[in-house]
Amino acid sequence: MKGSIRIDSSLCKGCGLCVEFCPNHVIEIGTQRNGMGYFYAIPKKEIRKSQDENGCTGCTLCALMCPEVAIEVYREKR
Ligand code: SF4
Ligand code: SF4
Repeated sequence: MKGSIRIDSSLCKGCGLCVEFCPNHVIEIGTQRNGMGYFYAIPKKEIRKSQDENGCTGCTLCALMCPEVAIEVYREKR
């Protein structure tokens, strides 16, 4: 299944749980700080540039792990 994610950077506290638990390693902590001063998580470059080949399977693990409920997961209908 193909999926994609959207991370609300204003909610993220940069804990890294989503990065650690994504089985496909498609999330990273970026180099920008949000309004609270945290380096926030972002989808890796490949997931951002292409919805077709982004490596995300829409498994929802990242969203389930996020203590700030900052991640939304979208799944492609087949
Ligand atoms: S939905 Fe699954 S595959 Fe996609 S970014 Fe989150 S943990 Fe990774
Ligand atoms: S789990 Fe949530 S709060 Fe932690 S880095 Fe990922 S998006 Fe940010």
